[in-house]
Amino acid sequence: AEAALRRAQTLEAVGQLTAGVAHDFNNLLQAIRSGLYLLSPHVPDRSRKLVDASLQAVDRGAKLVRQLMVFSRRETLQPRPVDPRALIAGVGELLQKAVGPPVSITTDIAPDIAPAMVDPTQAELAVLNLAINARDAMPQGGRLIIGARNARLEQPQGAAPAGDYVVLSVSDNGTGMPPEVLERVLEPFFTTKAVGKGTGLGLSMVHGFVAQSGGDMRIESRTGEGTTVSLWLPRAAAMPAAAEDAADPVSLPAQ
Ligand code: ADP
Repeated sequence: AEAALRRAQTLEAVGQLTAGVAHDFNNLLQAIRSGLYLLSPHVPDRSRKLVDASLQAVDRGAKLVRQLMVFSRRETLQPRPVDPRALIAGVGELLQKAVGPPVSITTDIAPDIAPAMVDPTQAELAVLNLAINARDAMPQGGRLIIGARNARLEQPQGAAPAGDYVVLSVSDNGTGMPPEVLERVLEPFFTTKAVGKGTGLGLSMVHGFVAQSGGDMRIESRTGEGTTVSLWLPRAAAMPAAAEDAADPVSLPAQ
């Protein structure tokens, strides 16, 4: 419990730091963007490619920074009933762009799936984060399964009290994690990915979001076999009306 508290405090501090830095960075990137934009009609043709590439890089940076801002602005969570089918459909669309052909994506949704009570945009980003990790764990290709089922917690677990839950899961048959990695994945900034590839914030932020939503996250992983991350999200009383389903659009980090 003490470790969990320390982690929550670290994460809180990291969240505040991230929000501040992301905000300043965003302003800087906007300044660079306008500079490049104003410059671009005046550069000779042979340098145009360079300016275009710089603009694209700035846009990618801005996208990442916006996601960090969304994730670290904890107070803006707006939980409402979300249809897991709609959520997964939204993520699937984005995933098709991020996950290349060697990775096949399938969904496994219980026919009687209940609505979850979560912030739809954050939930979508959370699943997207897990899916990107899954993709990264399958460089040679593989199978990614996004599942949704109803479940009951008889005992409280993590931040989740006993009760009814909707479990969203992301499974891959990639590299899996050895125990010494699994032990550390919730540490902010812990990453095994190459510099510039991973921030080490993904799972900590997903865990923070889920805990703040009154749910819990479970990770099962075996080296050489794959990983399943499950998000236990509180169940909502009723499905949303169709028009309320759609989450705000989110964008993928370009990689
Ligand atoms: P990042 O993806 O930026 O490294 P995360 O917090 O999302 O940050 O993940 C931390 C580490 O956990 C990753 O660097 C990787 O070693 C491990 N990891 C996460 N998801 C998976 C997965 N699906 N399969 C294998 N390893 C994973």
